[in-house]
Amino acid sequence: MDTRNFDAIVIGSGISGGWAAKELCEKGLKTLVLERGRNVEHKADYPTMLSDPWEMPHRNRIPLTDKLENPVVNRCYAYKEDTAHFFVRDKEHPYIQEKPFDWVRGYQVGGKSLIWARQTQRWSKYDFEGPGRDGFAVDWPIRYEDLAPWYSYVERFVGISGNKDGVETLPDGEFLPAWEMNCVEKVIRDRIISEFKDRHVMIGRCAHLTQPQDHHLQQGRGQCMARNQCYRGCPFGAYFSSNSSTLPAAAATGNLIVRPDSVVHSIIYDDKKEKVTGVRVIDRVTKEAKEYYAKVIFLNAAALNSNLILLNSQSQRFPYGLGNDNGLLGKYIAFHNYRGNIYADFEGYEDNYYFGRRPTAVMMPNFRNVKKQEMDFLRGYMTFYSAGRSGWGAKPQESFGPGFKERNSLPGPWHVFMMMQGETIPKIDNYVSLSESEKDEWGMPLLKIKVDYDENDEKIINDFFEQGTAMLEKAGCSNIRKSDSKQAPGLDIHEMGGVRMGRDPETSLLNGWNQMHHCKNVFVTDGSCMTSTGTQNPSITYMALTARAVDFAVKALKKGDI
Ligand SMILES: Cc1cc2nc3c(=O)[nH]c(=O)nc-3n(C[C@H](O)[C@H](O)[C@H](O)COP(=O)(O)OP(=O)(O)OC[C@H]3O[C@@H](n4cnc5c(N)ncnc54)[C@H](O)[C@@H]3O)c2cc1C
Repeated sequence: MDTRNFDAIVIGSGISGGWAAKELCEKGLKTLVLERGRNVEHKADYPTMLSDPWEMPHRNRIPLTDKLENPVVNRCYAYKEDTAHFFVRDKEHPYIQEKPFDWVRGYQVGGKSLIWARQTQRWSKYDFEGPGRDGFAVDWPIRYEDLAPWYSYVERFVGISGNKDGVETLPDGEFLPAWEMNCVEKVIRDRIISEFKDRHVMIGRCAHLTQPQDHHLQQGRGQCMARNQCYRGCPFGAYFSSNSSTLPAAAATGNLIVRPDSVVHSIIYDDKKEKVTGVRVIDRVTKEAKEYYAKVIFLNAAALNSNLILLNSQSQRFPYGLGNDNGLLGKYIAFHNYRGNIYADFEGYEDNYYFGRRPTAVMMPNFRNVKKQEMDFLRGYMTFYSAGRSGWGAKPQESFGPGFKERNSLPGPWHVFMMMQGETIPKIDNYVSLSESEKDEWGMPLLKIKVDYDENDEKIINDFFEQGTAMLEKAGCSNIRKSDSKQAPGLDIHEMGGVRMGRDPETSLLNGWNQMHHCKNVFVTDGSCMTSTGTQNPSITYMALTARAVDFAVKALKKGDI
């Protein structure tokens, strides 16, 4: 294979980049994946996947020096001794917080697909109709029907567990057997749905193989063992990651080359050809500059880094960043509001227990402003809850030894935890831009982030506290305690927007196929493309959008349209 010229280049090898690579390769395109981080081989590079707590120098805790040096990543619940090697440390990759923003990143082959929590819900038709209907963002250029077949397509390959619940606000997908609610969760569900007729309660849908199908086994993946040590990388390939699933599928075609340690600096626009011809790369280790060329580029560096790369891709035609004729690149950043948490106790059922460590919670789709605007705030929130026994509320302790065994044989009463996942409104004054003076080690301008909550978010938090408390009271819980984490935006790790899709090139950057309005051979299919955030965990939507966009791009390429 020519080492500089390809049919397609994919920037980033995480959840969306892995999908772009698989689809492009399977459609016969010689594809180069450029990844800024180190290589991570499935299994071989999961050093802690089978470690026991007593084998870890700090018994799975982070030392104080690391906490002091890297406050942002240390606020992420999944950053521990057994997973730290898959997270970016603040110190190594600085950025500028014009307002507090916890930017959690995973720079390696596989990106954050190794460390995500794997919750996967489809959007409903109401999510796509919402912005246009209620006027808080530009209209999505697509509707649920456009994406539904692509959701099915990706769900079959990924393997999603869930029930067919028949709820139109959280449409059913192609599901493997669901995880089960425990007895207390079931009681709470029954009481909520009998008291609140507008609400639905269901077990979470997640990217875990509860019953692998032949095509999963052929990927070399196996059944989930409910170990809940997923963030370390799964030796069974039982949860979906680029490393266990999409990248091996792409490689099996013989069309894939992955180049780790390749920091994409910018995308090259040829003023004469009026299209993009390739990308500029800085070698992570040697700092050597290189160029690679292709007919079509898929940008999948994760939401904020894709904004950074586009803003840094300046040419005579596009002096303010690739495709940025309307000056909106980097603007309308939104995220998910996770600030509300509620804790409660539940009496009884102390002769009941549950098996394994289930990798999901109980979920309730949004019930606010769904079919029309009815509250004094825009949009709404999903609600999650779970009930459990052992270790809950206990001080952090060793997960071995006689005390640990005792606690597990006498696990004490039931405790309930409820949380929100609120939609935020994309706003022009929530934006990212490039530093004029500061650069990173690879010569890239530092990203400046200015993103904050607003009054709408405060109202949503209050509504969640009110409704969550009412639901838990009706469900028979006691000692209900509300807690506003006051966490900065970003810690939700669902940052979106900046390169939004839309119908009108005056107000958006991408069309309904994730194609740049003003640069037809560039497609952006990670979270930066999102016109609004919905209330669902977003990654399954990025996957479906990516597979759909590749299908379009390859047909357009064959027709000579791009
Ligand atoms: C702890 C945690 C829990 C989460 N839970 C969920 C969940 O339950 N459900 C859900 O839907 N989502 C969840 N997410 C979010 C999810 O991980 C992201 O939405 C998803 O990974 C985004 O996919 P992506 O391809 O856009 O980005 P990533 O997976 O982050 O991949 C981007 C890749 O691009 C590379 N890259 C960046 N810049 C450059 C450059 N200049 N040159 C070359 N390569 C570059 C990065 O190194 C990275 O490998 C969670 C995330 C975390 C960290």
